[in-house]
Amino acid sequence: MQGKPVLDQLSPYKQGKQTKEIQEEFGLRNIVKLASNENPYGYSNQVKESLSNNIPALNIYPDGYTSELRSVLTTKWDINQNQIIFGSGSEEIIQLICRSFLLPGSNVVMAIPTFPQYKHYALIEGASVTEVPTDANGYHDMNGILKAINEQTKIVFLCSPNNPTGTVISKKDFEYFMANCPEHVLVAFDEAYKEYVNDVTDVHALTYINRYENLITMRTFSKAYGLAGLRIGYGMANNKIITTLDKVRGPFNTSSIAQKAAITAIDDQEFIERTYRFNKKVKASFESFLDSIGWKYYDSEANFLLVATPVSGMEVFQYLMENGFIIRPGELLGAPNTIRITIGKEDEMKELENLLLKFHQEIMKV
Ligand SMILES: *Cc1c(COP(=O)(O)O)cnc(C)c1O
Repeated sequence: MQGKPVLDQLSPYKQGKQTKEIQEEFGLRNIVKLASNENPYGYSNQVKESLSNNIPALNIYPDGYTSELRSVLTTKWDINQNQIIFGSGSEEIIQLICRSFLLPGSNVVMAIPTFPQYKHYALIEGASVTEVPTDANGYHDMNGILKAINEQTKIVFLCSPNNPTGTVISKKDFEYFMANCPEHVLVAFDEAYKEYVNDVTDVHALTYINRYENLITMRTFSKAYGLAGLRIGYGMANNKIITTLDKVRGPFNTSSIAQKAAITAIDDQEFIERTYRFNKKVKASFESFLDSIGWKYYDSEANFLLVATPVSGMEVFQYLMENGFIIRPGELLGAPNTIRITIGKEDEMKELENLLLKFHQEIMKV
């Protein structure tokens, strides 16, 4: 059996080696995974307690309208109940957007490097993809993206903080972009790491969903909230966009456990603040270390850092893996000669610094 032709060009998502495999292969006792931007501090204790005390009835289908979480989030963000849609991770929102708006021959514009799933889902729908390189500092080239838009362009994906560079889109750049972007183009604004942002000039995109009929913004519980394993995220836009996406959405696409955990997690903003504070502190200290060995990195407002490497990212990746650290080589992210490192806990990062220092000293000798 042959799938549709475009699938010949795509491969299934290749996840990194599993911790256990690496442990066995290199005879390591302990592995630190800093590859997927997960929260190293876990998740809220309130969620732990709530889930162990009363598990939802698993024989009953979940609330397909996600009523309770909907009510909590629309109150939090001061939007209408019909301006939000839930997905099995924000990943599914990206998929729903592509399914709902793209035809074969449509065009989609995005930065490179950026989150690879935008391109993947666009190609599946038969769309062409125009990738506009970020500037030398890893920021979206807003003018370049505007220039790349044509009659066929249906979606522009923007990511702030951008995965993998960590750079944010400023309010000023966003407003300039929206003022100049044609109305036939849906702007899909991914804010998966918004809770980590410290830079006050960054845009709060959801405050624009009433002003622009062609804007959707996406959030997730997978990153700062630490609930990646439960798969829940959401999109916010005007009701017309949401209704369109809702026709494509599966009726029970988020589980009852995920809905319940998300409600409890929102209630514990102290956990989010702590996560934010720890990340900021450990990131700053890791940046000073990189400065001390002269390795450059991008301005990240997220819980990861894209670091330029003096040799290929694959080589650094291999070395670190053999020593018990899993990171992402930039070669797999469209950013050769870099590595993307999730900011872990303080002691883990100290250990990583020692390894990088040793690596740096070894290559400087030759
Ligand atoms: C991790 C990530 C997502 C997807 O997260 P979900 O687990 O599917 O909610 C979306 N966008 C970006 C940029 C990410 O890094």
